[in-house]
Amino acid sequence: MTTRRTFLASLPTTGAAFALGGAFFDEGPAMAQGASDPLAGHFHPRGKAPSEHTRRVIAEAAKGLPFDDTRDFEEQARGLIAERSNRKIIADAGNVAFDRAEYDFLDGNDVFDSIHPSMTRIARLNNNYGLYNVTDGIYQVRGFDLSDITFVRGATGWIVIDIGTVRESARAAWELLQEHVGEGLPVSAVIYSHTHGDHFGGVRGIVSDEDMAEGRVEIIAPGGFMENTISENVYAGNAMNRRLFYQYGLLLPVAPHGFVTQGLGHRIPAGSTSLIAPTRLVSEPVEELEVDGLRMIFQNTPRTEAPVEMNTYIPEKRALWMAENVIAAFHNVYTLRGAPVRDPLNWSRYINRALYLFGDEAEVMFQSHHWPRWGNDRIREVLRDQRDLYANINNQVLHYANQGVTINEIHNVYQTPESLQRKWHCRGYHGSPQHNARGVIQRYLGFWDCNPTTLIPKSPSESAPLYVEMMGGAEKVLSRARSLHDEGEYLLATDILDKLVYAEPENADAKEALADAFEQLGYQQENPGLRNSFLAAAYELRSGIPQGIVASSSSPDIIRAMSTELFLNFLAIRMNARRAQGLAFKINLATPDNGERFVVELSNATLTSIEGYQADDADLTLSVNRADLETVMGGEAAFEDLLGDGRATFEGDISILGQLAGLMVEFDPRFPIMPGTGARAEVVTAEIPFKGDIGAVIPE
Ligand SMILES: [Zn+2]
Repeated sequence: MTTRRTFLASLPTTGAAFALGGAFFDEGPAMAQGASDPLAGHFHPRGKAPSEHTRRVIAEAAKGLPFDDTRDFEEQARGLIAERSNRKIIADAGNVAFDRAEYDFLDGNDVFDSIHPSMTRIARLNNNYGLYNVTDGIYQVRGFDLSDITFVRGATGWIVIDIGTVRESARAAWELLQEHVGEGLPVSAVIYSHTHGDHFGGVRGIVSDEDMAEGRVEIIAPGGFMENTISENVYAGNAMNRRLFYQYGLLLPVAPHGFVTQGLGHRIPAGSTSLIAPTRLVSEPVEELEVDGLRMIFQNTPRTEAPVEMNTYIPEKRALWMAENVIAAFHNVYTLRGAPVRDPLNWSRYINRALYLFGDEAEVMFQSHHWPRWGNDRIREVLRDQRDLYANINNQVLHYANQGVTINEIHNVYQTPESLQRKWHCRGYHGSPQHNARGVIQRYLGFWDCNPTTLIPKSPSESAPLYVEMMGGAEKVLSRARSLHDEGEYLLATDILDKLVYAEPENADAKEALADAFEQLGYQQENPGLRNSFLAAAYELRSGIPQGIVASSSSPDIIRAMSTELFLNFLAIRMNARRAQGLAFKINLATPDNGERFVVELSNATLTSIEGYQADDADLTLSVNRADLETVMGGEAAFEDLLGDGRATFEGDISILGQLAGLMVEFDPRFPIMPGTGARAEVVTAEIPFKGDIGAVIPE
């Protein structure tokens, strides 16, 4: 975290960027050539106002929405016990982890011409910041984190269901609970509903090693929790971290022309994450347990919103916890930061099963994001609608695919049924119908649309120059793009400008024009992931990628949870295979403290490993305790250090280790996405550094 503060201290503040805009940014070519002028008050000196077309799109969108249904606002406000008086949550490292005041601009009834009205609505609903009563003995703290933190009164203490992303928000939630209804009772149990970081990362904020050592706290999770928590984010972790800058808009300041909300909640707090392994796993499809004196029925829902996840019914309170399987929005089938596409039909089936298992009885339904639903009719309405929402996109996208509609067309063809479009809890606040529809085709048919032109095409940078030549050169492309822009045809404008920036990555006019088109598209989106992606690309085209220090805040908890096999597999991904041509060796690796053994072999420029074996003809045999190996896995020590001080021992040709280390590449999350944005360093306007951790927990 020291690294993080050093990084931040090296950057000008947002205010300075406003005051000194001309000094930081060279004179904008778009301005010089008479495109629309920058907007005063926009966070970026070259940011533009919404055009008349964008304002019309937004006004039209408002007409079709069911604003007369205000039940969400009533449910969101119901049961408020107290708001937190301090608007800032300060991280242990001293930075501001979350600042509720940044979202004050949403509190009134202002209409924003740069925000889709439906997004303004969900952003307002996400503006809660306090302790709420759900039903007798159940409380939620909302708005301290991307997710809610839920407290259920047990016989001897508090059962915490999902515990936020960072220790600081968990601790702040605990303090607010204790201030009002906690009665000074301790934490008696923690339940992780699923494997995403915003549901377990805060655990060390309120549970200590002593609590665990003395058996004071039981931690319950679905079977397969640890494996799935870590594995989802390791292999493509650096790419996912980079893509978060688009989906979550990490460089965009909170502002009417920037970041507004993430849909599930507001931002991920900038604090420290943690993980304590579960002490009890729920393995049966439906399993009943007594947790601190309270009867709970767990329903495992594997391969839904997460690889492993579980709903919970508390019969005594007629309370149904739907984890993240049902929220007040359409969730991601395909998640833009990158993840295997989820199975919407399976997801729907588990919601239906919850409806039939608990739907007749439940009087309150609550979950890990947004707010509860009260009354049996309302619960069944939401469960049925959500069941149909996920089944419909699965079935109807495949219905079209079976008639030849491709991944490149489906988002313009598929629509959520009109009756569900009029339900707020089916709006695309996390997954948009468009990108989810493309995800369904990806899941079943993959990336290829079956047109051989797109099967093994030239890379964009190779084919783009021909397009630009055939279109008559850069000036013609720019001129036509500007007229398309003036007509409000922003997607068409991006199509031709994209070719131009690939052909001429240093063409500042092209990048500026593309940024302007992306910005208008961003303003028009209802879905935060789509808005943030367009606005993030506009930001990077205008300013380049900030070149500050890459922060490494890998939680030791996460490293400990990573299997050695997963770590070895990740080494194989980090290895530069071209440099490994012609090399061949076998290494025996043993970790005596946990009794694991591996053969690691380099052959054919490929590193493989197998668990449970030692080779007779190994070139090198290494022995190191797993506990010491973790310092290497976490990047705190090199393997040579362990050999130097005797924590690791060897037999055979130790020079192999140096060869292997020399083949490793450190992934850097600052790689360019848009052409011509990599080597420039201007200004950052949000307090989130780049992170380069393997296995970093990714909230969802
Ligand atoms: Zn979540």
